[in-house]
Amino acid sequence: MNNKNTYDVVVIGGGHAGCEAASASARMGSKTLLLTHSIDQIGQMSCNPAVGGLGKSQLVREIDACDGLMAKATDKAGIHYRILNKKKGAAVRATRVQTDRQLYKIAMRQLIDGIQNIDIFQQSVVDLDIVNNKVFGVFLELGVKVKAKTVILTTGTFLAGKIHVGSHKKSGGRATELSSDSLANSIRSIGLKTGRLKTGTPPRLDSRSINLEILEPQPGEKPIPRISFEKQKNIEIPQISCFLTRTTRLTKAIIEENLDKSPLYNGLIEGIGPRYCPSIEDKIVRFSEKDSHQVFLEPEGLSVNELYPNGISTSLPYNIQLDIVRSMEGCQNAIITRPGYAIEYDYLDPRDLKSSLESKSIEGLFLAGQINGTTGYEEAGAQGLLAGINAYLSVIEREPWEITRSSAYIGVLIDDLVTSGTDEPYRMFTSRAEYRLSLREDNADQRLTEKARKLGLVSEKRWREFCERQNSISLVTEELNKRKIKYDSEEFLRVNKYLLSRLKGDISILELFKRPEFSVDLAEKIFNNFLYERDILEQVQIETRYSGYIERQQNEIDKMTKQNQYSIPKDINFHLISGLSNEVKQKLCVHKPSTIAQAAMISGVTPAAVSLLFAYIKKTEKSLALSNTS
Ligand code: FAD
Repeated sequence: MNNKNTYDVVVIGGGHAGCEAASASARMGSKTLLLTHSIDQIGQMSCNPAVGGLGKSQLVREIDACDGLMAKATDKAGIHYRILNKKKGAAVRATRVQTDRQLYKIAMRQLIDGIQNIDIFQQSVVDLDIVNNKVFGVFLELGVKVKAKTVILTTGTFLAGKIHVGSHKKSGGRATELSSDSLANSIRSIGLKTGRLKTGTPPRLDSRSINLEILEPQPGEKPIPRISFEKQKNIEIPQISCFLTRTTRLTKAIIEENLDKSPLYNGLIEGIGPRYCPSIEDKIVRFSEKDSHQVFLEPEGLSVNELYPNGISTSLPYNIQLDIVRSMEGCQNAIITRPGYAIEYDYLDPRDLKSSLESKSIEGLFLAGQINGTTGYEEAGAQGLLAGINAYLSVIEREPWEITRSSAYIGVLIDDLVTSGTDEPYRMFTSRAEYRLSLREDNADQRLTEKARKLGLVSEKRWREFCERQNSISLVTEELNKRKIKYDSEEFLRVNKYLLSRLKGDISILELFKRPEFSVDLAEKIFNNFLYERDILEQVQIETRYSGYIERQQNEIDKMTKQNQYSIPKDINFHLISGLSNEVKQKLCVHKPSTIAQAAMISGVTPAAVSLLFAYIKKTEKSLALSNTS
């Protein structure tokens, strides 16, 4: 900590949100302090050591497009890469990376240490210094006060955290770590709206006790598809396989028989758990018709003998956890290294935040990560990035960066949280993004890097690489457009063999890329002297194939942007708009939005209601204009 104990931005928490927040504000030039319980736990993955997945890898790539940390740390620790939805369209394609938990932490620490302007201090924050609804700093457990112009809270599952294993219950923020009870009390006493949520983790297994030979191995991708846009040298981490096993009828019987011992079912846990990452107890109850569920055994690292059995998160008592594990194929002699558990914690209602992630009621206080009701490292990191940027923008008295739904998944995430809130742990999905065709993981850099560069987030090296990549994409597009396959030439005949409907005349290679059956692999096989960088070719192919749809989506976005800027007349009577529910009418009357965009941001005002409001204003304007001319 510096000798004046004074900072522009103080970040509380060294998890995924905290690291991105501290890194973003510091890269922009802010004097930043990262306060965390344990420096050795910076970048700790509380659950599965995996990054990315459907809807999530888009967030990781967007963080990376702003030169954030998560993707870079992942590539320095990745031991198993998979491309999900490979056969589906680019809009829903996703990268998922299993990492080595220890290597990830080391990589994250190295990245943080490599950023000027970040000081790290190991201490628990017990209270916030708030006077007249403005934050002035934080109080540490040691009794020291740190002054700050802005504070970012990223305390994850630690606020009043309660860990459950069967009937055994204790305070904790994560296994073996203390909960933040004083800070939780302080936050409740300020009057911020809080609720309880829960999440859980499976027991870990000793890989030497599992009969991996009889299980189906799942190797990673080759060549390795890196998740960061950054050209990283010398990453040569051995790649290893995951294994597939299944729960059995016996597993089901064990769980059904012991359901009353699960704190989820006997009333000990009140918080709501993640719908899309349910415990094994939940799965057996909710999908009672199924006799078996897939379980992936995923390595926790290269140098440890632990496996993460993905799919059997549980808070049942330890002896029952052991029975469950041993009822699965290949696991009859399994040894548990760490018991599974559930954790309940306080979260804050994200509807009390502005789109900048600043609290509406306390000036200078920003919130990011699991504390806002989300689940997942990626969701936390994305919020951390935005909170870090906006905390520093507020210090230098500039307008916040509000990312829209149409420009990034980060925009979708923030918009969903601050307008609709959540009463269960919120996870990102591609289906939440209405403009997913344009918001792909492959083009996150095109969408965000330039803007991030202007904010001061992007290093010189990264900017140069970005410009070179964009340049190559344009050049290759141009060349492939010029490169014509002449009717009846040797190449023409070769191409025709692979096409569903035959070519009837000259065609450019770029045009060929529009055909779904024509791939980069095929082009490399068919054409002579086809020596383009694979990554660039794939990008050209995606952009060419989807150009029609993307253009249509862009028109929609432009229309919506125009609509959002539309002013709402001061004397409007919302009660006269037919089709609006009474609830929406009341909300509009209370909030009195002055633009359509402001109306759309009111919690509970649905996109359909916004369309009705817009149509009403246009209609009224038209009839006014008519009556004026007649
Ligand atoms: P965290 O990563 O929790 O980091 C919080 C940080 O704040 C820590 O560094 C902590 O030390 C620090 N801190 C807390 N209080 C203070 C204080 N008073 N003073 C100083 N520092 C403080 N996500 C999924 O997507 N799927 C899952 O299945 C899943 N299962 C989970 C199971 C468990 C048991 C847990 C604990 C989490 C699980 N998660 C899961 C959630 C995932 O771990 C989080 O979404 C992610 O870690 C959130 O990141 P964060 O930065 O918000 O918080």
